[in-house]
Amino acid sequence: MAALPKKSNARGSKQEQRDSQDGATTYWLGVALDVPLGEGVFDYRSSKPVPLGARVIVTFGRRKMIGVVTHHFDEPRIDSAQVREVEEALEDIDPLPSDWQRMAQFAARYYQRPLGEVMLPSLPAPLRKVSAYQGKASRGGPVARMKKRRAPVSPAALAPDQIPTLNVEQVGAVEQVVASNSHQTFLLYGVTGSGKTEVYLHSALHYLAAGKQVLFMVPEINLTPQFEQVLRARLMHQGGEDVLAVLHSGLSDGQRLREWLRVSTGQARVLLGTRLSIFTPMPDLGLIIVDEEHDASYKQQDGLRYSARDLAVWRGHDRDIPVMLGSATPSLETWHHAQTHRYACLTLKQRAREVTLPDIRLVDTRRLELQQGFSPQLLEAMEKRLAAKEQVLIFLNRRGYAPALSCTSCGWVSQCPRCTAYTILHRSGPATRHHHLQCHHCGYHARVPEKCPDCGDADLRPMGRGTQRVEEYLGECFPGARIARIDADSTRLKGSAQALFAQVHAGEVDILVGTQMVAKGHDFARLGLVGVLNADATLFAQDFRAPERLFAQLMQVAGRAGRHVAGAQAIVQTDYPEQPVYQALLRHDYTGFARHTLQERESVGLPPFAFQALLTAEAKTIAKALAFLEEAKMLAQSDFPAYLDQGVVLYDPVPLRVVRVAHVERAQLLLESVSRPVLQAFLTAWNPLLGPLASQLRVRCTLEVDPLEI
Ligand code: ADP
Ligand code: ZN
Ligand code: ZN
Repeated sequence: MAALPKKSNARGSKQEQRDSQDGATTYWLGVALDVPLGEGVFDYRSSKPVPLGARVIVTFGRRKMIGVVTHHFDEPRIDSAQVREVEEALEDIDPLPSDWQRMAQFAARYYQRPLGEVMLPSLPAPLRKVSAYQGKASRGGPVARMKKRRAPVSPAALAPDQIPTLNVEQVGAVEQVVASNSHQTFLLYGVTGSGKTEVYLHSALHYLAAGKQVLFMVPEINLTPQFEQVLRARLMHQGGEDVLAVLHSGLSDGQRLREWLRVSTGQARVLLGTRLSIFTPMPDLGLIIVDEEHDASYKQQDGLRYSARDLAVWRGHDRDIPVMLGSATPSLETWHHAQTHRYACLTLKQRAREVTLPDIRLVDTRRLELQQGFSPQLLEAMEKRLAAKEQVLIFLNRRGYAPALSCTSCGWVSQCPRCTAYTILHRSGPATRHHHLQCHHCGYHARVPEKCPDCGDADLRPMGRGTQRVEEYLGECFPGARIARIDADSTRLKGSAQALFAQVHAGEVDILVGTQMVAKGHDFARLGLVGVLNADATLFAQDFRAPERLFAQLMQVAGRAGRHVAGAQAIVQTDYPEQPVYQALLRHDYTGFARHTLQERESVGLPPFAFQALLTAEAKTIAKALAFLEEAKMLAQSDFPAYLDQGVVLYDPVPLRVVRVAHVERAQLLLESVSRPVLQAFLTAWNPLLGPLASQLRVRCTLEVDPLEI
């Protein structure tokens, strides 16, 4: 294992560089910089060879920047008199390895972004900031300045009986994975609680024992610190406390740098991380695991809009190593690959422990009198469970008190002045006078008006309900119950999510009200009942993936119940019980749902039977945004008719559902092709024309490949 680089390296190199400056040789370099121009690679010269993957300090325009050397040129691509000298070649870490460079190059190509905008942002911040290297405070650079790491809290050693003996299905899955000594993507398909984690762990241990590193990706870590502890306890036997590194966006710059270095020097052998960890160099990488592979958090929603899951598969292929994607409700893209045998499917049919899946029941709310959104059936079931000292989870994907405030006499509804959206009523204190209005799109805040701004009537009422109102109502219904609410509002403060979850786990909460934050990965010991309110809200969304997401989410929420309690139940209230999503849910029938939905997608030519890209425009007015997209479409037709003949389809530009956000109006243009390579080739030709057109028309545009939300 390589040791961490020492402080003296950087000093020594500067010395050498100065000594050799009389030499005649000039080295022409391509340097990737985080600049939104062209391909993102710029020409520089050096009197000394600089290896590919090394970081250098250069001047760009008037700014000093850190870049990555990506090319060695025989001669400069521009007039050599204009090529500037590299100011300093940084040697505080080894050059970024070639497989890292290849992946960044692939991502830049595939997602149509300048290379520098892929490479630099993926590095820990201190490694790409000039200020960390120059000036008085830099003291030898961030790596030299790094504080000694505090040893992680050692978990208690596990008693042998705490480690389950794998069942036959689990053993079979592990055997297939470890038998593949080249690239193969596996889908580990198993219901919640079927023991997928054990399969990941046993496979990981195999590769660790063989001297390999393992990348273990999860959608979120901040919310599930228990998981890190479990992993640490299980891995300790395999190389001590330093074996595990953890990366997620909640770390400070310094922590992130340290974890990144521990992995990239090979000191840490397992990297547990969120999507950003896919870009970490791992010299001995032997296995990649992507847990909950269907989760939308693997998709980055700004900057480089990559899918960490898709890049994981690419990286596994490039490194010729196995990749394991796990889920109880795989994305239909992944499922389709498994059905067509591009991925090998490993199935866990049973829950690992002797508890069965929760019984799912639909309550048809069409002809029911609801109390604050609760059916009598749900309230009665809650009462029973609470009496039996079981926990209840109420799931409602809508935070705040009520989705809008309205006037009973004229129909006025609270609206954001900056967006085409209602403002949400929030409770910030116990009394109604503490309420305020908030826009979830732009953050606009306002006081609650005393009377209707349109007609002057004082009878303003909340419309519908969010988690705060549900919490309040349940407090009235079940005065003896301890109620907690977990959503983005109640967990805004650092550490508060952990504290709330800890209370739930410690059994100090009887009723938990929560948004999707509670759906992920939690193992609530006494949870006997899950109630789902307002699931229909997404049922008829225009996004064709809405039913897929709804199904996955409901399966996941329902799966929180009965992991330890026998006879657990999930109650889903709906106005549309006959919808295929709900019918499949009733039977825990992912495969049936997938078959049905894939048939539908195939018949209308939607992904995974077609590939898409989305061009979004933002402008002062919707007319401008639409005009830009029209122009862009016309350019495609006039300049690249061959691609259109090969089946690239450009749909009509349309305004976004929420047209205006913070005074900016938005529209989008959807592109589609049955051939990924054809779409790619077209985008590569078309994309360079978009930037100039956008600046000419004063529009901001973004191109997204494989968009998840349309
Ligand atoms: P999943 O990730 O598929 O939802 P987990 O891996 O969390 O499921 O497993 C659910 C529970 O079953 C955990 O408490 C785990 O310790 C336990 N478990 C897993 N495999 C076994 C096994 N072979 N025998 C007994 N218990 C098991
Ligand atoms: Zn009014
Ligand atoms: Zn707004």
